[in-house]
Amino acid sequence: MSVSFRFLSLLLVTSALPILSQADIKLPAGVVAPITSEPPAATITPTPAPNPAPASAVPAQPAVPAAMSAEPPVEIRRAIAVEDTPPAVVPAPVVSRIVYTSCKVPAPVIAITFDDGPNPDHTPRLLDMLKARNIKATFFMVGRCVVTWPHIVKRIADEGHEVANHSWSHPLLTGLGNTSLDSQLQKTHDAILKACGKAPLHYRPPYGAIGMSQRKRINEKLGYSTILWDVDPLDWKTPRNSKKVEERILASTRSGSIILAHDIHGTTVDAMPATLDALIARGYQFATVSQLIELEKETSTTVAATAPASMPLLPEPTIPVVPMSTLPPETIAPAQPAKAVGLDN
Ligand SMILES: [Zn+2]
Repeated sequence: MSVSFRFLSLLLVTSALPILSQADIKLPAGVVAPITSEPPAATITPTPAPNPAPASAVPAQPAVPAAMSAEPPVEIRRAIAVEDTPPAVVPAPVVSRIVYTSCKVPAPVIAITFDDGPNPDHTPRLLDMLKARNIKATFFMVGRCVVTWPHIVKRIADEGHEVANHSWSHPLLTGLGNTSLDSQLQKTHDAILKACGKAPLHYRPPYGAIGMSQRKRINEKLGYSTILWDVDPLDWKTPRNSKKVEERILASTRSGSIILAHDIHGTTVDAMPATLDALIARGYQFATVSQLIELEKETSTTVAATAPASMPLLPEPTIPVVPMSTLPPETIAPAQPAKAVGLDN
């Protein structure tokens, strides 16, 4: 079974779960998200990189109600022991986060993303390339393009790709007040939903620039996670070159990577057949961003379930993680070190 189908099933299962508390604890200390991979306008000034929450702001352990942290009295434990059905299961202390540059996954699964479209010249032929390889991608779309070419948005969704929000007019969000910020995202959210019947679950800030309080606000208002990237082919830079796009993607992609690309550039789309085929040949499987995030969550749940001692009993994972032995080894991933994001001219 393909990973995509399995993840889709997982999504269906997990979509019924309540929203969990959010904290950015998964980002390792010192990780700085890319700021501006996209062509910065002349007026754009450097903005603070979106940092993970400082370690000091994160409780060492998820809060556990006092009543659950102590063992029940002996008589209650005996009663539990003779029950025919197991006692109510205490949910695992799964911790979520709201900003992703990549995901921690146990298998060579990656997400490729395309920004700034849809584009009438390039998005349809990109969709043909993806369909021919049964690859699902994620499209971060600009609202004003969505309303101009809604039929392409519908095709994107109908063919199983994830639709996501990239603002209405691609401004630098850090320069906006709350009213404008809300409008940029809400209008695009509504336009995507109207065009294809599916609501976005995530957004990507133009230029990768977003304030800490803005991320939190957007998460609270729209439920969005902030999706950045860890693989940047700099495909917007001139002179544009398909071979360089391919080389940069292949040099930096790792398991759990989120690859940035732009379907408004012909050279980027021209680079895709060779790039996608090379990634497939290296053993990578493609997931949408939401599927990749769910795989990370599933993995952390599985780790928690195997923790010994005082951890509460957990149900078996509904969908087991694919055993590593059935997947190509990580060693077939490119051996070159990842390039520093944003430093390649
Ligand atoms: Zn963009």
